[in-house]
Amino acid sequence: MSESLSAVVTGFKAPTELWRVPLPQIEPSSALIRVEAATLCGTDAHRWMGHFTEGGGDQPFLQPLSLPYIPGHETCGTIVETGGNIVDVLNEPLKPGDRIISSYAHCGHCYYCRISTQTTLCHDVKSYGHSHPNRLMGGCSEYHYFPPGALFIRVPDNVASEIAASAACALRTVMHSFEQLGPIASHETVLIQGCGPLGLYALAVAKDRGARNVLVIGAPKPRLAVAEQWGADHVLDLSEVADPAARVQWVRDLTYGRGADIVLNCANSHALVEGLRMTRPGGRLVQVGISGAGDIPVAPKLLFRGVQIISTVMAEARHFYQAIDFVSTRQKYFDFQKLISNSYPLDRLTEALQAMSEFREVKPVIVPRLSKELQG
Ligand SMILES: [Zn+2]
Ligand SMILES: [Zn+2]
Repeated sequence: MSESLSAVVTGFKAPTELWRVPLPQIEPSSALIRVEAATLCGTDAHRWMGHFTEGGGDQPFLQPLSLPYIPGHETCGTIVETGGNIVDVLNEPLKPGDRIISSYAHCGHCYYCRISTQTTLCHDVKSYGHSHPNRLMGGCSEYHYFPPGALFIRVPDNVASEIAASAACALRTVMHSFEQLGPIASHETVLIQGCGPLGLYALAVAKDRGARNVLVIGAPKPRLAVAEQWGADHVLDLSEVADPAARVQWVRDLTYGRGADIVLNCANSHALVEGLRMTRPGGRLVQVGISGAGDIPVAPKLLFRGVQIISTVMAEARHFYQAIDFVSTRQKYFDFQKLISNSYPLDRLTEALQAMSEFREVKPVIVPRLSKELQG
C-alpha cells in the first residue's frame, strides 16, 4: 500500500478522473483511514458545478475552491495507520482497525477558537472535500487523511458506515442547530422546511426532543413518505401547493392561527422569507446550513415580529459525537437507511454528482472500489 485510488474533479461540471495519489507522510496525532463509505451532500454538487470558487470574503471559513480536488466531506473509515498514540474525542485510545469519523481541525489560536469559542468560524478551519488530491482529504478515495488537530469519533458496531458518514455532515449540522436553538417546550410546534437529509434528520431530532407537533413541508413524495414513517404529524407536498400564501395558511391553520413556535429552514436558503411568515410572532427560526445564491429580499415589517433568527455553520466535535450517538441509539425509532438512496463505485462519481445536482438523489453513497467491469 503506497498509493490511493481517488476520484478527482479536474473541471467544473466535467467528468471526474481516477488518479493514483501517493499516501501522505503521517504526522503526529493524525490518522490515515481506509474509506468504508463516503456519502455526498448538496455541497458536493454545488462545488462540482463551480458555485463556490470565490470563497467567503469576510467569511474566511468559506474557503475558495480551486481545481483539482477530491470531493466528499462525509466519510467513515477504518484506521490503517496513526501518527503515534491517538485517542478519540472521549480520550479513549484508538488503533488500526477501529472505525471512525472525524471533525475538522481548526487553528486553535484565532479569535473564534480562543475568545468566542465558535471554532467552525475559525479563519483556518481544515474541512474536507475540496483540497488538492495530494493532501488526500476527500472521501471519494480508497484512503483519507485526517490531519493533526482533527478530533476522532469512534463508530459503534451497530452503525453502518454509510449512516456514520451521513451523520458526519447532515446530522452533525442539525445537532449544532438544535444546540443553538435551545430547549423545546412540550407545547411547542416545530415546522421543518425541506425533507432532504437535513430536514429528515431535523424531524427525527425534533420528535426526540419532545416537540408537541412536527410539520414538514417538502417534496418529492417518497421523501415525504419517510417523514411520515419517522413521525411527522403533518406533511405538505410542495409540488401540490404552488402558492406560498396557501402554504403559510396551512401552517397557521395547524397552529391556532399563530404560526409555528420554531421553524428550521432545511430547504433552499431563499425559503427563509416564507419561513419567517410561518413563524409565530416571538418564535424562533433556524437557518440550517446554506443553499442557493444571490440576495434574499426581506420586507422590513417581517423583521418587526420579535422572531429570533439563528444561523448554523458546520459543527464542532461534540456535535459529531452527538450525531453518532443518535444514529446508534435511536435506530429503533427511525430507519436511517431510508436516507441512503443509491450506491456508486468511484468510476461512476460523475453520475452521482450529476444526479445530486438535479435533485434525483437524496443521499448517495460512494464506495471506494471500481465497477465490476473495471476490476482486475
Ligand atoms: Zn482558529
Ligand atoms: Zn455536507
